[in-house]
Amino acid sequence: MILLTRIHLLLIPFLLLGADSAWAEKRTWTMTNGRRALAELTFAEGSFIFLRFGPLERRFELNEFSQVDREYVRKWVGKERCAACNLPLTTRIKKTANKTYHLSCFHCLACGKSFKGGDRFILGQWGNLVHSQHQSQTFQCGSCRRFFPRRGASTKQQFSDGRVVCRVCLQDAVFDKETLSELHAELSAMMKDKGIASPEGKVEFKLVSKRELNNQAKRIHVGGNLKGLTVSRFRKESSKGETTVTFSHIIYVLFGMPKAELRSVISHELMHVWLNERGVEGPADVIEGFCNLGSDHVLRQDPSRLAVHLMENMKTDKSPVYGTGYRKMIARLKQIGWARMLNEMQARGKKF
Ligand SMILES: [Zn+2]
Ligand SMILES: [Zn+2]
Ligand SMILES: [Zn+2]
Ligand SMILES: [Zn+2]
Repeated sequence: MILLTRIHLLLIPFLLLGADSAWAEKRTWTMTNGRRALAELTFAEGSFIFLRFGPLERRFELNEFSQVDREYVRKWVGKERCAACNLPLTTRIKKTANKTYHLSCFHCLACGKSFKGGDRFILGQWGNLVHSQHQSQTFQCGSCRRFFPRRGASTKQQFSDGRVVCRVCLQDAVFDKETLSELHAELSAMMKDKGIASPEGKVEFKLVSKRELNNQAKRIHVGGNLKGLTVSRFRKESSKGETTVTFSHIIYVLFGMPKAELRSVISHELMHVWLNERGVEGPADVIEGFCNLGSDHVLRQDPSRLAVHLMENMKTDKSPVYGTGYRKMIARLKQIGWARMLNEMQARGKKF
């Protein structure tokens, strides 16, 4: 299962979509394979950069670009940044006690007014700013946790089970089984790369509402704020002294999650399937931490900004099971690698 992380009031930099981008700088990027494109740098982290082409944003490896481009990124990273959008500051800025913003970023997303001295405001995870007294006029996206104004939110953004999503996440949200099976195939292959064998038993997926997911969870006595749930069954048959065990699994996932999040949830659940077929039991932090290694592996290769954000949430998650468990297991994984990690987990398995 996946437990939703609480809202962290730390700043995860993100571009304010649709914001007036006086500081945006379109330039021509040249890749080492000779491809060229006009784009704007929106984010850089480690060896990755994000470029925006019109409404589209993609992740690239920095070393795929020319020397001139790499130098540009190096300078860009060194610039002073806006606390709201994390883009380099220009001349029109607003300073508060300890942070600096673009003038065009320094306004409440609910009422649209610029903040004045003495105003109390909240800085959200994606750099969204809102008056404290106007927080009730905003929704928070259940997937990326971005705040957005209630006014103007379409009915499509408000699901029947009470969840809400922002426009960005809705664009990429999955409601159909075909996409789900495509993702399943893609993720199974990615997990095989790390030695996680395909399940022996049949895996069935169900796209469900929050209500139904919670009901299913209650039946097997788990709780929490879930996004996915794996229910595994096994059947033992003995004939002529030989015992065979057959498995079947149902993976419940919430409908309407954007692909990056759904990938992360499915891979977490597929790790549960792997553990369940081996009869592995253990402390919750070991089990859930291990399953989050599946999410980690998949999110690392996902080229979307949401994936970076979800990774960051996992790294800073305060839950002793999902957060601490993940940090413990990823540290162990770095030490011993996948092959030994899988052996260690398998050794915890019991006979059926
Ligand atoms: Zn889990
Ligand atoms: Zn800004
Ligand atoms: Zn306001
Ligand atoms: Zn969102």
